[in-house]
This record gives sequence, structure tokens and C-alpha cells, in this order.
Amino acid sequence: MPRTKIIATIGPASDSPVMLRALVLAGMSVARLNASHTPRADLERRLAAVRAAADDAGRPVAVMLDLGGPKLRLGEVEPNTQLVAGERFELLIGSCIGDARRACVTYEALATDVPDGSRVLLDDGRIELVVIARRPDALVTEVLVGGPLGSHKGVNLPGVSLSIDAITDKDREDLAWGLAAGVDLIAQSFVREPGDITRLRDLMGDRVIPIVAKIEKHEAVAVIDDIVAVADAVMVARGDLAVETATEQVPVVQRRIVAACRQAGKPVIVATQMLESMTAAARPTRAEASDVANAIFTEVDAVMLSAETAVGAYPLETVQTMVRIAAVAEESLSERPSVQPAAGGCYDVTSAVSTAVYELACDLDLAAIVTATQSGATARAVAAHRPRTPILAVTPDAAVARRLALVWGVVAIVVPQHGTIDDMLAYAVGAVRDAGFALPGQLIALTGGVAVGVPGTTNLLQVTRV
Ligand code: PEP
Repeated sequence: MPRTKIIATIGPASDSPVMLRALVLAGMSVARLNASHTPRADLERRLAAVRAAADDAGRPVAVMLDLGGPKLRLGEVEPNTQLVAGERFELLIGSCIGDARRACVTYEALATDVPDGSRVLLDDGRIELVVIARRPDALVTEVLVGGPLGSHKGVNLPGVSLSIDAITDKDREDLAWGLAAGVDLIAQSFVREPGDITRLRDLMGDRVIPIVAKIEKHEAVAVIDDIVAVADAVMVARGDLAVETATEQVPVVQRRIVAACRQAGKPVIVATQMLESMTAAARPTRAEASDVANAIFTEVDAVMLSAETAVGAYPLETVQTMVRIAAVAEESLSERPSVQPAAGGCYDVTSAVSTAVYELACDLDLAAIVTATQSGATARAVAAHRPRTPILAVTPDAAVARRLALVWGVVAIVVPQHGTIDDMLAYAVGAVRDAGFALPGQLIALTGGVAVGVPGTTNLLQVTRV
């Protein structure tokens, strides 16, 4: 399997037990469930089916629940509605059945938040309006680019800062369900500032799981370093990002976000339209293959598939194609990574041990780096250096093994809990040999904490021969 992890969005095209098993065997490491479009019963069924497929395949697979966030959407619109350039179109606050002259949005502060002259994009930017006047109950606009308009299409306001709450009531309900059901990661949509992430984390109470901050708003791009500092992982959500900023901004912003995450040693995902044409075709375009490979050359942790696997005609072929592109791209990575995470400070033992093990792996011909990890932190810290040596995480906690499915290059194995670090490491060496990562006589590096079972106590580094 490639060291870059593959995230596949699960939908009607991919939620059968047979397909999910095939996707796991093909290389899907993280299954994304989209809370915004999916009835609860389908979320429940898909979660159980992913767990069963992962158990069958004997591989840890993480389930990421993607919360819809504060996305503005139109209400119902009459069938065959067509907006015409040059005509007037009103966005009314409330609910109504829309037509070619008006549609409704249930956002009370619309007319106060959005200044005259603002551009309004509907349906992923396919339709463009400009605000020419405002009333307390409506934005009056002129259609700049027309086209067909359907019900529930998204409304984006590039450059406008909305006062809408970052966490909706539906997000709260979906979060409560996800935590109770045992999902592994939560993706937070339309994050604007670090406080949005800390508020979501506070809502988790005593069941805190990692938060993936989706960067798709111009406000978030402006404070990206502060967001990276508080998020557990970050996603470059290029779909809404393109509409909220501009299509030509996406490559530049992607590069900036990836660099910020690599420097901070935080997992980073590149998402949306990576193999979009495979939604309807068995082969990708050359440009898509290059897009995936170029993300891999920047050593992102994961690349993500959306419609391709959720509703596409070739979900399995898409994952297989992504795996092949990743494997070939990784073969051409230079011997040493171009970015190293910034030092964690002289009193941060985990980070110092991780740097030391990375340097050892460069100097010695190690067959594997083995991290005995309770929380996954040591494995993440080692992976942040992108060592070319395989990283094996041995952990007694199956949930930790699943979370590590998002992290570049980490293969996680669940092992029994041991009483002492010596027993744990002896077991780990056996597991490494049995899994075929090292042959008898080869050198491996072992890291762990002398206080076995206590997270955050990494303080041991040992080089040993298998
Ligand atoms: C995106 O906008 O790129 C994205 C990943 O979010 P969603 O699929 O929820 O729109």
C-alpha cells in the first residue's frame, strides 16, 4: 500500500458490504460519511458496514463524520427554473417556493451581513448574481451569469463575512450521534477561526476525538497558522474554497496550507475533484493523475475522493487508480523530505525522540521504525518527519490504530496490553517480524514510553537487531 492514505466518501455507489470490503482491500484507509446529505439511518448502516468490512480485511479503517456546517442553501425551487442574465432576482429571507424571479434562504441576517455590490454565487458558482439593493427581508440582485436553478442549491458569498454561528443545531445533533456511535474523526466544515474548533471540541465533553478543520473560507485562509495550531488535522476543501475565494486561488492556497501543516507536523488532506472524471469514466484524465501525484510530491498525509466513490459509476476502479498513481509518485520522492517539522522546543521529549529516530533512520539502514504508542502521538510525531523507513505503530487501543489510518506512512497493529515496556517491545519485535517488515538480523529502531500504558510519556529509543 502507498504511504499516502486514501479517503473515500461513502454513498449509494459504495455502501454495499461487498463494495466496502473491496474498497478496504484496494487501499481505502478512511471512510468519509457526509452528515449534510445523509439520513441518519443511512449513516448508521454505513458505519456498521465499514466496521464489518475492516474487520473482515483485518485492517484498521477510520470513519470520518463530516459535519455540514453553516452552509447557506436555497429552499425549494419550481422545476425547470431558468435564471436569465440581466434580469432581477430576489433572495428572500424565509421560506417559499422559488422561481425565475426569487428564491428563499432561511438566514435572518442576510440583508444586514451582505453589502451592496457583493457577488452571490449559486449552485457551486454556476450562477452569479450581484447585489443592487437591500430590503430588511431581501437582497435584490441582478443576474450576471444565468442558467438552470434547482432546489436546495448552495449559496456562496465570496469575500463577505457572515455573522452566522459556526456550529449549527444540526451539527450538534450529528456530533452527538457520531460520538455515541463511535466514529473516529470529525470533519468541521466552514471553519473561520481557531475558536470554532475549540468550541466544537468543548461540545465533545469527555469523548474528545480528533477534529479535521476543513479550510474553505477566505477568513480561515487569513489565519491558517492559528487554525493549524489548534486543529488535529486540516483538509484543503477545494470545492467550496474555489467558490469562496476564486478558482485560480486554489493552487496557491493549497500550497500554503500544506506547507503550514507540514511545518507544524499536523496531518493534512487534499480533497475534491481529484479524479472527478472517474465519476462517469473508467479512466482519469492526465491532468487529474498529475493533480494527485503533485499532492503526493508535497507529502500530504491523505488524498480524498468525494463524488467519485459516493455516487460514481466506478468507485473501486477509482480507489485502485489512486493507489497506482500514489505508488508510482512515491517511488520518485527524493531520498530526503524537503520539509521538516519545526522543533517542538527543548522540553518536548516526544518531539525530540521523534527527531532522533528520524535522523537514525537516515544514518542507519533500518528495516523499520517501531513505535509502541498509547495515544498515537509518538507515531504521528515520527511520521511528521516523513522517514523513508516504514513506520509501524503498535498499540493496545483499536481506536488509536484506526485514527492512525489518516497519518502518512503509519501501519498500525493492535497488540495486547503489556505490563512492562520490555514485554511490549519484545512483543513488538515479534509482530514486526511476523508482519514481514524486518527479517531476522536486520536493524530496527524502537520507541516507546517506559511508563507503559500512560499516554504522552515517550522517552525511550533503542536500536536492535531482529
Ligand atoms: C469541499 O468543499 O471541497 C468539501 C470537501 O466539502 P463538501 O464536500 O462537504 O462540500
